[in-house]
Amino acid sequence: EGGMERHTYDVVVVGAGGAGLRAAIAAHEAGARTAVVCKSLLGKAHTVMAEGGIAAAMGNRWPEDNWEVHFRDTMRGGKMLNNWRMAQLHAQEAPERVQELEDWGALFDRTDDGLISQRDFGGHKYARLAHVGDRTGLEMIRTLQQRTVQLGIDVFMECTVTDLLKDDGKIAGAIGYWRESGRFITFDAPTVILATGGIGKSFKVTSNSWEYTGDGHALAMRAGAALINMEFVQFHPTGMVWPPSVKGLLVTESVRGDGGVLKNSEGKRFMFDYIPEFFKSETADTIEEADRWYDDKKNNRRPPELLPRDEVARAINSEIKAGRGTPHGGIYLDIASRRTPEFIRKRLPSMYHQFKELADVDITAEPMEIGPTCHYVMGGVEVDADTQESAVTGLYAVGECSGGMHGSNRLGGNSLGDLLVFGKRAGEAASAYAASLGDARPVVDEADVKAAQASALAPFEVEGGENPYTIQHDLQQSMNDLVGIIRTGSELEESLREIEVFKERAKTMVVEGHRQYNPGWHLAIDLRNMLIVSEAIAKAALAREESRGGHTRDDFPTTDAEVWGKKNLVVTLNTDGTGVDLHEKPLPVMPDELKKYFD
Ligand code: FAD
Repeated sequence: EGGMERHTYDVVVVGAGGAGLRAAIAAHEAGARTAVVCKSLLGKAHTVMAEGGIAAAMGNRWPEDNWEVHFRDTMRGGKMLNNWRMAQLHAQEAPERVQELEDWGALFDRTDDGLISQRDFGGHKYARLAHVGDRTGLEMIRTLQQRTVQLGIDVFMECTVTDLLKDDGKIAGAIGYWRESGRFITFDAPTVILATGGIGKSFKVTSNSWEYTGDGHALAMRAGAALINMEFVQFHPTGMVWPPSVKGLLVTESVRGDGGVLKNSEGKRFMFDYIPEFFKSETADTIEEADRWYDDKKNNRRPPELLPRDEVARAINSEIKAGRGTPHGGIYLDIASRRTPEFIRKRLPSMYHQFKELADVDITAEPMEIGPTCHYVMGGVEVDADTQESAVTGLYAVGECSGGMHGSNRLGGNSLGDLLVFGKRAGEAASAYAASLGDARPVVDEADVKAAQASALAPFEVEGGENPYTIQHDLQQSMNDLVGIIRTGSELEESLREIEVFKERAKTMVVEGHRQYNPGWHLAIDLRNMLIVSEAIAKAALAREESRGGHTRDDFPTTDAEVWGKKNLVVTLNTDGTGVDLHEKPLPVMPDELKKYFD
């Protein structure tokens, strides 16, 4: 392609969600020439959908709260598989990052004393989520975006990155294409920060939007980095189940934090039957105590509806399987009988409208029907805890596409905190490395640019092949059925066989038409990423022979502290690039001064 568009930067951030924007701001403020590239319009990233809030131990409602309690909650929520250093940094730095958002103009809800309000969420000992009604992500994105634009950071919107470019093992740049024109664009840059979000689109029922095809995960693997924790996928307990067009759409956990309860078709509040040993001492075991907790949190234990997400999702799944589900195959989430219409409309405005408009249900008068939905991937690029650098020099990953911080299960609110804390760290580390290079910067190899273009255009060369939509549809169904919320060895093996078949089918997928705005072609490119990420998830899920956090094995129902509690699974691309290899890795050892919190 003669005269391809080309740009030179110090730091290229791929993704304009909370993680990407925070990283870009930090890189720019550290003096780096910085660009943000994103697949959709600025402001459309997943982060905008976040409802509940940002977990940060600010202590505004509970002076007893501090980073140590938050750290302990995070590790326990992740069933101790988290990278302890990331959990520690996150707990320590989240309050500063929230405060800073406020300094930049974010308008949080307030306590009566005028402090930033904090709400209750599952797995957090104290009310800890800084929030803006149930539209926290919108305010966060608005604030970060405004600052990005004010600072004059270059933004490339509706531009998809397809490959990373290297020189002698180090990052030299990235290549992508404009979605509208289909024209290629190359970035020469010694650092790339991946902030591409999740992988939810590999599953049929998901709260994630079209963008979440695991691009960053796959780009990193293809560049030689490793993924960690990939067997751990979070199924949020409460997604809409009806009407079919919105199946999977999220119903925020705040509904439960604010008093909503789960009931089966017999009207029974069933969560009391599912309190695991691990959380018994801090969970109410009678309805009376659970209800008292909302007004008197000091003298009562938390309701079981606020157990961590994995526990609640499994319980709902069991009730539905046992035949106690609702007409549309869900469970009832009831706040109508417990709070006034005024309270509900004030605290949960988006939920009120979502149900009214999409399902014709008035949540102030009747219960919602909900069920588990694929929501978040704990797994992601394995990075250094302090800098977010991957195994590839110059390649960083941050936010949902990075791994380690959340272990086997993420607590609600801990993602938004993660984006801010590690976004800043990654931006600073990348700009420092770029500055240290002086004139000795890696150089893009033109042969790699050509190869990346040829690979992206390959589906145009095929004649008579299959269209990518059918392959995507079959993959989503397969992942949902075989690698979903409850897993067994035989089904995981079947899933890996099916993925091999999808990979074969994808080799001859064909796209019609031209390169100008061509969604079929875009999907063909995304599908390469979805396939490799799906394989990583299924392989790791098959290997981990225990149940822990977001990974539940029917054939290995217990948590195995002795063997599996001591190791992580790490995934890399195999030598010929056709599939993934799995490795075991001991957990990083927690220092004694932190171990004391878990006695
Ligand atoms: P995202 O915000 O997902 O952004 C990814 C960016 O990468 C986008 O700009 C996208 O265009 C870009 N991108 C992707 N691939 C490419 C590519 N190949 N080339 C160029 N650009 C690319 N977490 C909480 O902590 N609290 C909550 O209350 C909460 N509520 C949630 C509610 C919903 C409905 C959902 C779905 C999630 C919620 N989460 C919540 C989770 C949280 O919102 C996400 O984990 C988080 O926003 C991810 O942010 P991110 O910056 O990593 O990526």
